Amino acid sequence: MEEKEKTEGQNLEKLLTWEFPHVGEEAPGQVQEAAAFCEGYKVFLDEGKTERECVEAAVRMLRGAGYQELDVSRHYSPGDKVYQVNRHKALMATTFGERPMEEGLRINGAHIDSPRLDLKPHPLYEKKGLAYFKTHYYGGIRKYQWGTVPLAIHGVAIKKNGEKVKICIGEEKGDPVFCISDLLPHLAAKQNERKLSEGLKGEELNVIVGSLPYVDDKVKEPVKLLALKLLYEKYGITEADFYRAEIEMVPAQKAADVGLDRSMVGAYGQDDRVCAYTALMAEMEVKRPRYTTVTLLADKEEIGSEGNTGVNSSYLRHYIEKLAKLQGANAWNVFGNSLCLSSDVNSAYDPTFSDAFEASNTNYVNKGCVLTKYTGARGKAGSNDASAETMARVIGLLEKEGVFWQSGEMGAVDQGGGGTIAKYIAQMDVDVVDLGVPVLSMHSPFELAAKLDIYQAYRAFRAFFEEEDVVY
Ligand code: MN
Ligand code: MN
Repeated sequence: MEEKEKTEGQNLEKLLTWEFPHVGEEAPGQVQEAAAFCEGYKVFLDEGKTERECVEAAVRMLRGAGYQELDVSRHYSPGDKVYQVNRHKALMATTFGERPMEEGLRINGAHIDSPRLDLKPHPLYEKKGLAYFKTHYYGGIRKYQWGTVPLAIHGVAIKKNGEKVKICIGEEKGDPVFCISDLLPHLAAKQNERKLSEGLKGEELNVIVGSLPYVDDKVKEPVKLLALKLLYEKYGITEADFYRAEIEMVPAQKAADVGLDRSMVGAYGQDDRVCAYTALMAEMEVKRPRYTTVTLLADKEEIGSEGNTGVNSSYLRHYIEKLAKLQGANAWNVFGNSLCLSSDVNSAYDPTFSDAFEASNTNYVNKGCVLTKYTGARGKAGSNDASAETMARVIGLLEKEGVFWQSGEMGAVDQGGGGTIAKYIAQMDVDVVDLGVPVLSMHSPFELAAKLDIYQAYRAFRAFFEEEDVVY
């Protein structure tokens, strides 16, 4: 049957209007490719539930791909690969490019910390026959989501003698898990009247760790003592060692396919390990890039990029200055000519909560990676707000490689907002824009992201590193 001839108006409509396509409709062949790509991603999510574990996993991957620790006394040639770890919690990796560094770097920065419940410095207590850990939440969580969810303990403690012990319970098959309790509906009448933000209060995020006593009627707190004894037997730590520790409670659930069509990944910590993994894969696969690459996996984004492992510290600047020095390059030119993707997730439109979004400026599941011009709140405060020129450069290189992308805001105006590392990168005089993956239920114990979108982020990062000619 012949296709009906289009009217003049329809032709004009096609020429002048724009709508982001659905990747599954436009490129159904990528469904399988994306699914295959995400098998490795799910393993990475399960291996790295804390920033330290992500750094360890990344170093394993990088070393396997031929990366060596940066040695400033060495000479490096195009294609050589190096990395540097910052205090066990952040990492930079580089593939040296063909062009002099004064022409700029290609920087891709993601973060590997995720919202969670940190143990307080003196966490263990007993109340009426139950032993608990006291927690202090890290990052923006909706506290009510963290009750009645199986939790695992991850972290490190440094003993008095300096020995560092790695702690992990709740991940291996057969391990016990931990849990925050909530009231039964039969008795929740009073709690139900609370605002949702206080459904569970900060001081109610107490994790149950035991219920049996150490049998000795001379002991003051026998349930707490048994918990301590078990920790001592497993790790050789005592209550005093909690002050020399960083211990995080995270969801024990493993990454899983979601949906009858298995089109999504469901997991804890996809913000922002989805960008960390895709960035790392692109970094490892690039052979001889035109521009020297810097892949950054940063810590502390969820609390404002603070501390000396967050991007609002000088370590990234110092790393780039070290790279510049290798070539005797003027660091000011290196920064000024660099282009950076601040790779972070954005909200996906949630049809159940449509009021929170403005439908024509939002990000949709399966419409590709998200280019976010600006973040912030209350009139873009705290935002980097990428220039039209930077948007044009990045859109140009995505379209050249046929990467599906979309652009939207985090939500409707004045519904809230958020920030990324972009503004701290911009402080170094670098052009930067946010690019990432749309996520449903962001910051919850079980976040959802579509495999096709994850795959587009990976394709975007490869295009970014492998760009041969500057489009603009
Ligand atoms: Mn993030
Ligand atoms: Mn976040």
